Amino acid sequence: MKQNSKHPVLIAGGGVGGLSAALALARNGLESSVFEQADEFKEIGAGIQLGPNAFHTFDDLGIADEVHELTVYPDDIVAMDAINGEEIVRLPVAKLFPKRFGKPYGLIHRADLHSVLLRACRETGKVNLLSAKKVTDFNANGKEVVVTAADEQQHTGAALIGADGLWSTVRQRIVGDGKPRISGHIAYRAVLPLDQVPEANRQNAMVVWMGPRFHLVHYPLRGHDMFNLVAVFHSDRFDEGWDSYGDPEELNLRFKGARPEVLGMLEKIDSWRMWVLCDREPIANWTKGNTTLLGDAAHPMLQYLAQGACMAMEDAVCLSKHLTLTGNDFDAAFSSYQKARYLRTARIQQTARLYGQAYHAADATRDLRNHFLKSRTPEQTMESMAWMYDKDQIPV
Ligand SMILES: Cc1cc2nc3c(=O)[nH]c(=O)nc-3n(C[C@H](O)[C@H](O)[C@H](O)COP(=O)(O)OP(=O)(O)OC[C@H]3O[C@@H](n4cnc5c(N)ncnc54)[C@H](O)[C@@H]3O)c2cc1C
Repeated sequence: MKQNSKHPVLIAGGGVGGLSAALALARNGLESSVFEQADEFKEIGAGIQLGPNAFHTFDDLGIADEVHELTVYPDDIVAMDAINGEEIVRLPVAKLFPKRFGKPYGLIHRADLHSVLLRACRETGKVNLLSAKKVTDFNANGKEVVVTAADEQQHTGAALIGADGLWSTVRQRIVGDGKPRISGHIAYRAVLPLDQVPEANRQNAMVVWMGPRFHLVHYPLRGHDMFNLVAVFHSDRFDEGWDSYGDPEELNLRFKGARPEVLGMLEKIDSWRMWVLCDREPIANWTKGNTTLLGDAAHPMLQYLAQGACMAMEDAVCLSKHLTLTGNDFDAAFSSYQKARYLRTARIQQTARLYGQAYHAADATRDLRNHFLKSRTPEQTMESMAWMYDKDQIPV
């Protein structure tokens, strides 16, 4: 049914997904209120990789120029064997990607991307940004949605979008499938000023060092002033938890036997932030009437394809397009948006798990991985990623 409510659209969560949704709706003439549980709207100090598909969403969101100013464009994506130091793949993305996909590969500080989205939301004059507002519950009566926050205030909206991330409260009311799946993989993240980065690692590249049950990713950020580090390893030590401090001892243990280039990076960091990596099985239905989910709340994935935030932004653009197509009929738009997004996001969720296994392969599987990756031309490697990056593959 078409909604003509005088109320705004309510969005739970002011991360990349929630702000992209608010911005996409504002571009479509719709007002929204974004509820963020944290005391301020901000992102953590770490990097994010942007596939060419992300740059198409920046066009749609009208923030391409601002993002461009803050992005580092790597020459190559490089895969290294962390044990013998062999270069397995060097994909010249700066040379190949713009020609093939019409867009580059980029690296940006999360806080920079988030602040571009925040500023753009403010400039529209259509987004009400409410911090220290944890959504605890909601009630949908078929016409409107009333959200209850931790401060016990209630807010009425025309519809609700749950963009409240991996541990989504809104998902529990729509889907009710309990906690996410703990993968047994732990990520330690840090940023390192350029002058601390060993000379051998100062490449303008996204480099992944793959070892048995661990890997290290590093790449430059902010005009090469700093490097982003993500060290991932298998551990059953942690059940749950997010964004707490990491233990350097544990890291040394898990990366035992790695090349000096890898250990030399790890030892420079005093203070790591730790993430217990989780995902979920894909689901086809994350919508109920005029309530829906977006980003990690809808389809949390492991980070191995570097697509979680890209998918959240694609979701936002897609959802807004479906509202336009249906004349802002929330029930119809949320249902067709979900249908459009389901298989693309499910494929990324499932493939990310496979990539995780390949990254962390040992013994013969490691040799096979290296042999297979080395046997392909750069063009063949690029084509194997076209299902993610090609504009034609982004469902409308
Ligand atoms: C190690 C690692 C590396 C990654 N690298 C990449 C990469 O290179 N490229 C990429 O595209 N993706 C990457 N990702 C994935 C990406 O970080 C996530 O997919 C993305 O942040 C999802 O955005 P979101 O807005 O859906 O959720 P979130 O970023 O989790 O935002 C959710 C927001 O909702 C708020 N919130 C939660 N609950 C409530 C509530 N009840 N009420 C109000 N507010 C609430 C939170 O405080 C938060 O601000 C990586 C992830 C990890 C762990």
